[in-house]
Amino acid sequence: MMNVLNKKTVEDIDVKGKKVLVRCDFNVKMEDGVITDDKRIVASLPTVKYLLSQGARVILCSHLGRPKGEFKPEFSLAPVAARLSEYLGFEVKMAKDVVGESAQALASSLQDGECMLIENVRFHAEETKNDPEFSKALASLAEIYVNDAFGSAHRAHSSTTGVADYLPAVSGYLIQKELVYMGGALENPKRPLVAILGGAKVSDKIGVIENLLNKADTVIIGGGMAYTFFVAMGDTIGTSLVELDKVDLAKKLMDDAKAKNVNLLLPVDNVVGLEYDKDTEYKTVDSDDIPDGWMGLDIGPKTRAKFADAIKNAGTVIWNGPMGVSEWEHFAGGTIAVATAIAESGAISIVGGGDSAAAIKKFGFADKMSHISTGGGASLEFLEGKDLPGVCALNDKD
Ligand code: AMP
Repeated sequence: MMNVLNKKTVEDIDVKGKKVLVRCDFNVKMEDGVITDDKRIVASLPTVKYLLSQGARVILCSHLGRPKGEFKPEFSLAPVAARLSEYLGFEVKMAKDVVGESAQALASSLQDGECMLIENVRFHAEETKNDPEFSKALASLAEIYVNDAFGSAHRAHSSTTGVADYLPAVSGYLIQKELVYMGGALENPKRPLVAILGGAKVSDKIGVIENLLNKADTVIIGGGMAYTFFVAMGDTIGTSLVELDKVDLAKKLMDDAKAKNVNLLLPVDNVVGLEYDKDTEYKTVDSDDIPDGWMGLDIGPKTRAKFADAIKNAGTVIWNGPMGVSEWEHFAGGTIAVATAIAESGAISIVGGGDSAAAIKKFGFADKMSHISTGGGASLEFLEGKDLPGVCALNDKD
């Protein structure tokens, strides 16, 4: 695996007077052309402001939605340019195209400390094919490339990867933070390293579990995926979620944990419901005592205490996936208990993107975590130990 902690950042390169192409994640939520959530725009500001303060000529780019390779006005980034202008206090000029005449003319007229945005890179089908000619055309707009779109870093597209073949390439602050926290936790964690994995399916997290069994001191398994492990141990699980084709794999993972001396913790009790419904009748039962016709929808109180005990002494915690159906009040207790234990532990805490990040925010723990990853798919692939193309493409420090 590459050394992600050795990648150059915006601070390692002289940008004064240079045209800098910055790949942002402006894939914001919009309704009828109005931005309904601009947190991704706000998140881009530290890198953009830094570059402007250094006298760079900043050319921003991003994808938005899935226009499938053609111009569609509803996927235009023009509303993003308007919102950016409000935040920056001066006009961010909007090009009418991606690499065409408008983008080129605006880019060459840009002065030091000015900023523009080109159109949605996915208006060109070549973008997602990582087409070299398109990458070259993007690169020709600028002299330096900055990638700050972690959520797209697992995709080898022109604007995330290909363009780096033609320009010096460094990370922005958002990607840098992801690499420092997640890379640090995987490569040189403060120990003990406790990994907490939950969510619906084992199949989504096999790679993560396998990789973390090589890194962590303790691996905690909760959520729907735990029941496949119960079947592997010979327990009956009522109507709980199970992936029967993954039972042998669950057995193997348990054997691997033993062989590697990793403490693998599974739920000892569960909150079970009669139906998959937020208002269903529910009760708490031990893991070897799940009655026929009931399904496990959360970890029980003994499990919460057991998991909290392991988390309490952690130096680093990596968490991906809720402990139960945390969207529903009666089955959110396990996820809240784990979040509380992490918050109280004082450990370096890293929450993978997606559902666990959403749960953390909903229950008010966001500011108690050291790092909440902005990438769903990208952070899973990172935790699997895969090299992300958008990160690989960045230049190494000497
Ligand atoms: P993931 O996207 O894999 O992290 O899974 C998140 C989803 O898993 C959430 O929507 C949860 O409702 C669901 N989930 C967690 N625990 C269970 C469970 N015991 N039974 C069914 N679904 C669950």
